[in-house]
Amino acid sequence: MAAKPGAQNGAPMTASSSTQSSAGHAQPRTLGELKRIPDFDARGASRSVKNEIRQNLLRAIEKGETLFPGVHGYEDTVVPQIVSALLSRHNFILLGLRGQAKSRILRGLINFLDAEMPVIAGCEINDDPFKPICRGCREKIAAEGDSTPIAWMPREQRYVEKLATPDVTMADIIGDVDPIRAARGGRDLSDELTIHYGLLPRANRGIFAINELPDLAGKIQVGLFNIMQEGDIQIKGYPLRLPLDVLLVFTANPEDYTARGKIITPLKDRIGAEIRTHYPATLEEGMTITAQEAWVGRDATHKVEVPPYLRQVVEEIAFQAREDKRVDRRSGVSQRLPITTLENVVSSAEQRAARKGEKTVVARVADVYAALPAITGKMELEYEGELKGADTIAKELIRAAVGRVFSKHFADVNFQSVIQWFELGGELKLPELSSTSERYQQLAKIQGLMEHVGKLGVHDRKDAGLAGAAAEMILEGLWAHRRIGRSEERGFYAEKPKAVEQRERDMPGRPPRRQFN
Ligand SMILES: [Zn+2]
Repeated sequence: MAAKPGAQNGAPMTASSSTQSSAGHAQPRTLGELKRIPDFDARGASRSVKNEIRQNLLRAIEKGETLFPGVHGYEDTVVPQIVSALLSRHNFILLGLRGQAKSRILRGLINFLDAEMPVIAGCEINDDPFKPICRGCREKIAAEGDSTPIAWMPREQRYVEKLATPDVTMADIIGDVDPIRAARGGRDLSDELTIHYGLLPRANRGIFAINELPDLAGKIQVGLFNIMQEGDIQIKGYPLRLPLDVLLVFTANPEDYTARGKIITPLKDRIGAEIRTHYPATLEEGMTITAQEAWVGRDATHKVEVPPYLRQVVEEIAFQAREDKRVDRRSGVSQRLPITTLENVVSSAEQRAARKGEKTVVARVADVYAALPAITGKMELEYEGELKGADTIAKELIRAAVGRVFSKHFADVNFQSVIQWFELGGELKLPELSSTSERYQQLAKIQGLMEHVGKLGVHDRKDAGLAGAAAEMILEGLWAHRRIGRSEERGFYAEKPKAVEQRERDMPGRPPRRQFN
């Protein structure tokens, strides 16, 4: 999956910075200077990345900091489990469906690293100045002693991420040796001068994340296990010693991970914790995430207002889809569905505003239908769903969502006068390109309708934008509950003719369908 929206906000800083540089004195530039800083402690300076994270995490908890800023709804479920895994110095895996903030959580681990870390300058695997593992660095220190140059590595560079696919090779992850040079030079197993390092060694003293672990070929899983277990590995038959210091974190779809044969047992055994992520438990949690991620506040040429009930509808679509039998549950329905839908709702309203030259505009239910392209691609359909088609399913989900939100707001309201208006022959058309005031005038004609817009948070019944959009939502809700009829072109009328029409439309299609079955 590509970078998450919201990532551009930059990693929020926690108070986990503890390097000497932030303590105020000049940063050491050589090994000797590093040793001479006042509070220097060789053991502390050489602590493992898991100990570093542990200590910074404990400090953050003691200070009551938000551990994973921007992650909502996991405070009592996922976060405490991750904290336990980190305090235990465990490698862990997040098991969850798409769009459950797994990548965001893993990237958030960066906040538990020191702000900067000293490394031997120029080392490809970020060697610890006091415990170098590559031969190049050991030789350098032997030759240059205390004047060996030190570089400071910011924590953002200590996170390495890889999406596992079947074609990922050992060379990608661990590294490669040049067999000709190795043979010619008579170089032995630990002669790293012939190695081209892969991603994992480059994540040394940092965090290495592998997404979709089950897609990684078995022999690379074996390689990973060997590195974790013994710190050594064979590449092209050449044994290689690499005692790396890495926090390994993974993600996987739960079904893939538990499927037999997808993960080699010894690797599974070395993953300290399996942590299940989940979708938002409540509509409110979902709306919080969507509001945070969706690009809604745009430039001010045409101001778009999205009423709260419409945000509820957008979020409810995802909830409906996650429950719908025609939508594949193993793939799940990502939180990106309501996020992109909300963005498209705003864009649809923005378009209308631009066309009609309106400075401000209120988003309407019609804009949710206009957002269909943001919905259809985010659901894998079961066979039954495929037969109906993604568009039809998406429209049904919107209708169900509108129905649910309508019920929440109007549980005890009697709409008899509105329904009667239609039954007495009233008809209403809301053409796509009518202006806000044209639509309002149409809607205001319907007896008893505007009386109820207050329940949707509209205080001024004469506000054409807000009251008009709310009135349209009410009609849509009545249609969702089959109290009135509605055409594809957004014409509303009494329920009965619709039923007749429907039957007539279905009739001609039926006999041939039977024959072909
Ligand atoms: Zn090195």
